[in-house]
Amino acid sequence: MRLNRREFLTASAVTGIVGAVAPAAQAFTLPDPPQKARLRLSCQEGVAPGKSLAEKLDFIEALGFEGFEPGGGGLAKRVEELQTALNGRKVRISAICAGFRGVLISEQEEVRRTAMESMKEILTAAGALGSTGMIMVPAFNNQTKLGHQESRELLVKLLAELGDHAQKAGTRVLLEPLNRRECHFLRQVADGAAICHDVNNPGVAVMGDFWHMTWEETSDMAAFIAAGKYLHHVHIASRKDRKMPGEDEGDNYVDGFKGLKIIGYQDFVSLECGCKGDRTKAIPAATALLREQWQMANG
Ligand code: MG
Repeated sequence: MRLNRREFLTASAVTGIVGAVAPAAQAFTLPDPPQKARLRLSCQEGVAPGKSLAEKLDFIEALGFEGFEPGGGGLAKRVEELQTALNGRKVRISAICAGFRGVLISEQEEVRRTAMESMKEILTAAGALGSTGMIMVPAFNNQTKLGHQESRELLVKLLAELGDHAQKAGTRVLLEPLNRRECHFLRQVADGAAICHDVNNPGVAVMGDFWHMTWEETSDMAAFIAAGKYLHHVHIASRKDRKMPGEDEGDNYVDGFKGLKIIGYQDFVSLECGCKGDRTKAIPAATALLREQWQMANG
């Protein structure tokens, strides 16, 4: 449509195009998320100190942690043990860390089938435990001979089946992007989210791992904003050596925490890391650092 000047001015008066100068305070105001984000800390089973499951849970519960992340290996046989251990506690199962066999995007059908069956078994147990999802890497470096495009098409197809199973079990598949030294196929959080977008299945989501993100993301905040509603778990470690947050000089998560706040993130931030010092001292120190940086992400 072409407007003459008179028509243009009339239209402008209605829409306010001419002379409309947005007040500076409004120009960059982001919409409030539907729910306010909270820092819900979680700890992997192997990271928490303690000789028994009960000791590990006692330790993290005393620090105000809300989540516990076990591995997926043998999970089906541990459902009752974990349910009993968590009974009456404030801590619940966060994510389930991998533990499956096979490779979902292998060029070999048998290897793909092993992955599918193994993951379904873990997802059933994850659902029984009320987990947000089972973490999975489609293929580490050298685990598939398929090219990128073929890998992605295959993954989207197989995730539809896996997502249906996850959804019926009451949980999700969580794609984990890794850094290039471990995986060339899926390295950025936004790429994982784009795969979720294409699969379009509530049983398929993505996670972010601050340590991998150190090497692959130009902005932690932008990565989390791009993931948006598809983001359902976060791993955290020191940024250079993958030890306890705060054990590397200059460990900073504020930019990423801003992104989590902007999207109203409701899931967990889980310790997946080694430790340079004594865990019984390093974990409380890391907890204080993360809570301080979460506050700093307000402004
Ligand atoms: Mg991780």
